[in-house]
Amino acid sequence: MVPLLQHSNTPLLPFCAGHRMVEVAVTFHTGSPEETELLGERIGEALEPGSVIALIGELGAGKTVLTKGIARGLRVPDLVHSPSFTLIHEHMGRLPVYHFDLYRLKSPEELENLGPESYFYGDGVVVIEWAERARELLPPDRLEVRISGEDERRTFEVRAIGPDSARALERIAS
Ligand code: ADP
Ligand code: MG
Repeated sequence: MVPLLQHSNTPLLPFCAGHRMVEVAVTFHTGSPEETELLGERIGEALEPGSVIALIGELGAGKTVLTKGIARGLRVPDLVHSPSFTLIHEHMGRLPVYHFDLYRLKSPEELENLGPESYFYGDGVVVIEWAERARELLPPDRLEVRISGEDERRTFEVRAIGPDSARALERIAS
């Protein structure tokens, strides 16, 4: 049985007219790692080339668990990597998945030197753990996921910043 992921809409703002910034947020709750993977799967299914997901949350929050689900939703056969100092891991699913893990990032410049725009504006999807460590390098249109909680309960506040992300979030929430 597929557990129902609860979600609540914070006011769904009307779509951008003129120069107004589009920001839409939806909050999801999960009660286990499996449910978090399912949420990730649902997110992965809704993504398009050029989607960028910025994950924000402490160590152990569930960023990697959610990323595994996102990868599964994008039909990546198996997202496993041994611990390494590589900042960017590439996987192939129905789209390429570029998994950035910025845990060991020493400075935003270190990422800047890798030319992140070629990933952000490329043919695939970018999922970034510890995205706040390179905030100024993030593209203007992105989904931000803030993860909090304790024990097995986790809250995922998914905020769409920009019109492409807002459309993806509509698909995720529907
Ligand atoms: P992060 O990448 O944010 O540092 P991980 O995803 O690697 O964190 O680890 C999350 C840990 O929390 C795992 O050990 C997982 O089993 C546990 N956990 C417990 N409940 C949940 C939940 N609802 N969602 C995700 N992880 C959970
Ligand atoms: Mg992690």
